[in-house]
Amino acid sequence: MVPTTQTPFVGEFREGMPFLGGHLWIDFLNTRPVINGVAQDLIGTAQAIEHWARQANIAPGESATIDQPKALNALRQQLAQAFDCLAASKPLPDTLIVTINRLIDRSGVHLHVTNLGVDERLELVGPPVATAVAWDFARFLAEFDHRRLRHCDNPACVMQFYDVGKNNRRRWCTMSLCGNRDKVAQYRERKSTGQSA
Ligand SMILES: [Zn+2]
Repeated sequence: MVPTTQTPFVGEFREGMPFLGGHLWIDFLNTRPVINGVAQDLIGTAQAIEHWARQANIAPGESATIDQPKALNALRQQLAQAFDCLAASKPLPDTLIVTINRLIDRSGVHLHVTNLGVDERLELVGPPVATAVAWDFARFLAEFDHRRLRHCDNPACVMQFYDVGKNNRRRWCTMSLCGNRDKVAQYRERKSTGQSA
C-alpha cells in the first residue's frame, strides 16, 4: 500500500525522462519522446519499465503481477486516443472504458486510523504501472477539466500536458525546450525579414 499523496513534483525531467504532463497518465503518454530526432520508448523493456516506474513514484506493490511491455504499449495507445477524445469533448472509446475498469476493479482507497489521525492509502492490485496509470486516469475524469489537455505547440514535439495556468493558455511542454526554441525562431525570422524586435 502506498500513500495517496505523491512525492512533490520536482522539475520537468527526472533522469532525462519527461515528467511534465501534470498527471501520471499523461506522463505515461509522454514515454515515447523524440530525442535528437530519434523516437524512443521509455517503457519498451522490463528493465526500462522498472526504471521509469521508480521515477514516476510507482511502488512495485506486493502482488506478483508484473507489467508487460506489450500490454503497456497497448494501454498507451488507448490512452493516447482517449486524450484526443477528451480534449475534443468527444465520448471515450468503449474499449478504453473496459480496459480502465478491468485494471482498477480490485484497487481502492483505504482509510487507516493512527494516533495521529487518519491516513488515506491507495491499494493497487495488479500490474503496478498499468494499475497506477489507470487509477490516475479515473481520478482525472472525476476531478479535472478535460478542456485543459494540450499537445505542445511545437509541431516537431510529441509531448502532451495538462494546463494548470490561470489563463488556460500554456502552449509549450516546457519553456526550456520548445518555448525558447520558438522565441529563437521568431527572432531569426524577424532578423531575416529585416524587422526590428
Ligand atoms: Zn514541446
